[in-house]
Amino acid sequence: MTTGLITHPACLAHETPPGHPECADRLRAVLHALEDECFQYLARHVAGAAPGEALTRVHAPALVERILGPLAGQAARERYVHLDPDTVMSAGSAEAALRAAGAVIDAVDLVLEGSLKNAFCAVRPPGHHAERARSMGFCLFNNVAVGALHARAVHGLRRVAVVDFDVHHGNGTQDSAFADADFFYGSTHQSPLYPGTGLAGECGRSGNVVNVPLAPGADGVAFRAAFTGRILPALEAFRPEFVFISAGFDAHRADPLAGLCLGESDFAWVTSEICALARRHCAGRVVSTLEGGYDLAALARSAAAHVHAMMEA
Ligand SMILES: [Zn+2]
Repeated sequence: MTTGLITHPACLAHETPPGHPECADRLRAVLHALEDECFQYLARHVAGAAPGEALTRVHAPALVERILGPLAGQAARERYVHLDPDTVMSAGSAEAALRAAGAVIDAVDLVLEGSLKNAFCAVRPPGHHAERARSMGFCLFNNVAVGALHARAVHGLRRVAVVDFDVHHGNGTQDSAFADADFFYGSTHQSPLYPGTGLAGECGRSGNVVNVPLAPGADGVAFRAAFTGRILPALEAFRPEFVFISAGFDAHRADPLAGLCLGESDFAWVTSEICALARRHCAGRVVSTLEGGYDLAALARSAAAHVHAMMEA
């Protein structure tokens, strides 16, 4: 059984203004790293576009309509439309957002039909900050939440889990999971840092949310302890039927946007731990999707280590 790599060229056509950290070169760096010979057996798939009904399982219909309609039109005319100071749409953004969410949907389908062991979605814009009714933090649609609710609605699964090791808290994914006892969300993230949510006391309606904030400067030892002591035991107890990973690599020590001190080996370790847990509970069903990571070289090496660990799992 092989690991899948799912992407779409449209994800490179989501343009952000010069100097914006969330740029197309990030995805180029990841895809280039995954051209290495050791990735020759990845099953490569081109992502379909997420259907509207998949997006509105997560998002308010008015948000979806605004992004795909008036804002997409305005972006085509004016080059850039700012949704907030950080979050921008260009002419290619609506299609990129549809393919980014669509990649996670396709990954779920391919894993559940038995074509793939697990899969990595190399996509942008990222998703974990996008809330039900608000795009923010470089994110338009919440790709991972769309995939998780698709797994339930279309494949009849019940308990879905998202593990998020991006250096920022995934407020949007937590927003989707918070009141839903069958939706686990576990996150390590730097605190204080954007967006300011993810305090340890935010536990979800039924303990289904586990936040482990890490102090600036925290290293791999603290990161691994957060997983070994908190997130993995809670996920184990949740008994997931499908595990998603919000794979942001901006907790790397080289990242310019934050101050954690992880290295590639930490990302490989956590990936192996998550995949091993998924093997125990759900036949190893794991779909990972790219979130942040803003030092191009560190991002490329980290994503490669992550995908390699998925292949070895
Ligand atoms: Zn991030």
